[in-house]
Amino acid sequence: MFETEVKSALNTETGLKKPEDVLYPVMEHFFTIQGEGAHTGRPAYFIRTAGCDVKCWWCDVKDSWDGDKHPKISVRDLAVSAEASRAPFVVITGGEPLLHDLGPLTTVLKQRNLSIHIETSGSSPLSGHLDWITLSPKRFKKPLEEVFPYVDELKVVVLTKKDLKWAEENAAKCPEGTRLLLQPEWDTPESMPMIVEYVKNNPQWGISLQTHKFLGVR
Ligand code: SF4
Repeated sequence: MFETEVKSALNTETGLKKPEDVLYPVMEHFFTIQGEGAHTGRPAYFIRTAGCDVKCWWCDVKDSWDGDKHPKISVRDLAVSAEASRAPFVVITGGEPLLHDLGPLTTVLKQRNLSIHIETSGSSPLSGHLDWITLSPKRFKKPLEEVFPYVDELKVVVLTKKDLKWAEENAAKCPEGTRLLLQPEWDTPESMPMIVEYVKNNPQWGISLQTHKFLGVR
């Protein structure tokens, strides 16, 4: 869990606006099933912010990269939709959600008693109130050292053997008790036997699959 003071969060990006009136570029927001990671299978409200400066070549949401291509939506509208869905938690994802000051959005979601999860590359500073932090580190733009102490779940996308080494380097920096997960890249199924073998030999790790793609949900 991570929490910044709301006051400082409001000052950095938003000036004197009320948190409800702050706008974020959003590619999509929708009620669905969390498809990957430690909370797989649970209903969740997803908010996919627009803008990403990491630019993984295998990214499956390249449409999210350009923040100017997407509408700006108020915190009020996002929070009303999330609450109306009756989802037990919200997943803020991207794009790279930490390109934005998440203070206003997470303050209002918290006021509505929603638990807040984030999926991030960790390459920009943490902000806001975050109940569950999933770090998905990318070699293209490494996580900031200051992010590691707050990680709840480390989810590393695996294409080749090099990614297993990358996974261990990152795991060494995470707190004890962090959920450690290896996830095959969807279009690289040949990585699966390697991951299975690795997890059998290194039982501190588990496997995360993109089950939403099997279920046919977003
Ligand atoms: S960090 Fe995420 S959104 Fe950005 S390019 Fe990589 S996979 Fe895509």
